[in-house]
Amino acid sequence: MLDLRRLSIHQVTLLRQCTTPQFVAALTRNGVPCTSLWRDKTLEYGVEKTARIVADNGIALSGYCFAGLITSPDRDEAAKARDEVRRALDEAAAVKAPCLVFVAGGIDPRDKNIADARARAVDGIAELIPHARSVGVRIALEPLHPMICATRSVLSTVKLANDWCDRLGAEDIVAIAVDTYAVWWDPEIEDEIARAGKRICSFHVSDWLADTQDLRLDRGMMGDGVIDLPALRRMVEAAGYDGYVEVEIFSQRNWWQRDPDEVIGVIKDRVRTAV
Ligand code: ZN
Repeated sequence: MLDLRRLSIHQVTLLRQCTTPQFVAALTRNGVPCTSLWRDKTLEYGVEKTARIVADNGIALSGYCFAGLITSPDRDEAAKARDEVRRALDEAAAVKAPCLVFVAGGIDPRDKNIADARARAVDGIAELIPHARSVGVRIALEPLHPMICATRSVLSTVKLANDWCDRLGAEDIVAIAVDTYAVWWDPEIEDEIARAGKRICSFHVSDWLADTQDLRLDRGMMGDGVIDLPALRRMVEAAGYDGYVEVEIFSQRNWWQRDPDEVIGVIKDRVRTAV
């Protein structure tokens, strides 16, 4: 059973119902100790104000989500995208998040060479490392499900994330976020999580609904789908991960329609019974 002191609820889980102050109040009211902030919401409310309200309420941060999308084949576009990541790293440092969730970027119709897109992503990350080090925020490479490879991320597996980490050789600052929704299907997942070991800085849970209606915005509550979450949790813990279990549910048709206290109540129940 998960100790609720290890529970983090990602801000996106209550994206539609709550402003940042309402969200922080809901966490505090329900005794949830930690969150991962959604960048758009932080920018909307203000970085300094967000940092203050989170700290004043004693809420810890498990991450800052997200930035990246640096795979453009156009040099200027790619440089601008890297600058945007640097700004996001600064914001993550300001709100005292330990890591920035990094989404690599997809394939550009102007350039259908996926190997090149992946190479540009790795080179781009290498350029971001000095800035990440200077602000003390880890870049958390988050593999995403291959169904969104075209639009969001050419980084599709934990194996690839490990390969990129090997190439980058910056174990102090480049890490891996394991999102169960993105990697549960992978036949190599157990070996690659073991290989990742201490690189794992973040563990995200939700469920894959058997009748999913939308690849991004129809994530399920833990226990409602087909992912063996306890098995994945055992794998990351066997690899040495003992940090927060972060609930991250994008759910247009269901959980975004519900009362925040009801959603948090179900989460607290499910992390104990289904994770
Ligand atoms: Zn995630």
